[in-house]
Amino acid sequence: MIQITDHLRQVRDRVKKAAVAAGRAADEITIVAVSKKHPVTAIQAAYSAGQRDFGENFVQEAAPKIESLALPDLRWHFIGHIQANKTKDIARLFDWVHTVDRLKIANRLNEQRPHYAAPLNICIQVNLAEEPQKSGVAADEVGELVGAVRNLSRLRLRGLMTMPPVDATADTIEAVFLELAGIKRSLVAQGFELDTLSMGMSADLEMAVTCGSTMIRIGTAIFGPRR
Ligand SMILES: *Cc1c(COP(=O)(O)O)cnc(C)c1O
Repeated sequence: MIQITDHLRQVRDRVKKAAVAAGRAADEITIVAVSKKHPVTAIQAAYSAGQRDFGENFVQEAAPKIESLALPDLRWHFIGHIQANKTKDIARLFDWVHTVDRLKIANRLNEQRPHYAAPLNICIQVNLAEEPQKSGVAADEVGELVGAVRNLSRLRLRGLMTMPPVDATADTIEAVFLELAGIKRSLVAQGFELDTLSMGMSADLEMAVTCGSTMIRIGTAIFGPRR
């Protein structure tokens, strides 16, 4: 568990270096520690080292972890593909959902968000690589979905999320990140109050920070390889 503390320090250093090089403040960038396929003890170790934002991909795996960890100020981010029959648990358990890509899912999360909880923070997932098998709304349909989600009172629309193709070159990754930043900028110019760009993982966090990311989702670099 000493390793997790060291790894977190290294990730924070990488963020700081990339931010300084880009003329940004490191505290504009939130590190979401992706704990999928890692045990509760690993999450506790990261928490002890000051980490507060955690990401999970699978509701069935996340629910018992979230319910067994009653730690103050913990924020849970859902970053996996959303099946309609899982929205009720997602709306109840999580603080953020990064992967909304269709209105049906947004409507369900809005209806199912418990009345005692704050509005659910939402990012729209955009599929910029236009990989047909991948989740995410196409670039030319983002505006319509953003406009519809803005009207849902139990959701708080925060921004956009994307994932480059798995085997993308550095040039492609940069192009994808810059395109997402451009879409956000144009939506902000149209009056949408978006403050979040969720992009960047263990291998490409520097590029993401350079391109304007405000939330990086880091698994391997903090917790090591997944089993
Ligand atoms: C698993 C996952 C991550 C973390 O990836 P690493 O390469 O381990 O940092 C980030 N985002 C999403 C959507 C993921 O599914």
